[in-house]
Amino acid sequence: MKQLSRVYRATEGHWVGDGFPVRTMFSYNTHGADISPFLLLDYAGPAEFPSSSQPRGVGQHPHRGFETVTVVYQGEVEHRDTAGNQGRIGPGDVQWMTAAKGILHEEMHGRAFTENGGVLEMVQLWVNLPAKDKMAEPRYQEIADASIPAIKLGADGSLARIIAGEFGGTKGPALTFTPVNLWDLRLKAGHKTDLTVPDGFSTIILVLNGRLRLNDSENVHTAELALFEHDGERISVEAQTDTTLLVMSGEPIDEPIVGQGPFVMNTREEIGQAMADFRAGRF
Ligand code: MN
Repeated sequence: MKQLSRVYRATEGHWVGDGFPVRTMFSYNTHGADISPFLLLDYAGPAEFPSSSQPRGVGQHPHRGFETVTVVYQGEVEHRDTAGNQGRIGPGDVQWMTAAKGILHEEMHGRAFTENGGVLEMVQLWVNLPAKDKMAEPRYQEIADASIPAIKLGADGSLARIIAGEFGGTKGPALTFTPVNLWDLRLKAGHKTDLTVPDGFSTIILVLNGRLRLNDSENVHTAELALFEHDGERISVEAQTDTTLLVMSGEPIDEPIVGQGPFVMNTREEIGQAMADFRAGRF
């Protein structure tokens, strides 16, 4: 059994631009190697936006040294970057954006969503890159809902959607630089099952809504996060109400992490270089 390390409640929220009211559920600043290869998770919404003629969001900004993974549950988000990639994702869709050596991008609400208004709910997960890939070419994977395998868990309508990695022999479509599993689970009330993750992986479960009993011992509620010990492979999950959870597990990257704002590198010097490159317009 993989032991539960801690349960974290949502922190006080803040706004990213004028489009994303987020709660930062974990960050490398406070958790460091415990969560590697994951760096940060912002949970945006659920929040209601009135209709508007001006798209809300966050204007052009840089990233270097890692990947941003955006999972949309409700609403619509548009992305555009200096590597020439552009896309719009909606409920069930995922955008896996590799900043690597550097991009500038903007993240805005979609046009139709802006005009109609509605509820926005999404997760943005930052995944670190190993030192050898931090200066690789940027990459953009738009992963549509329909291309994500959804495995039926029993006959009660519970589902596991495999975004990345592998679940019970089914592989997810996302390409990753290091071994990462990302599963979107929708469990019906009363559903109980065991999850298996590789021994030694960092493992985190975010409950987006519902109530989940873990390892027959601890309840995790809406907008709470469970962090597990690296040792062990099996986690028992039991949905006490209909529950949506995001399960992430990954092989730790055993390298120094030095970050500042939108840059996450291995040394102070590399951060200085990133800031100089950004200021000089080299992104
Ligand atoms: Mn960004």
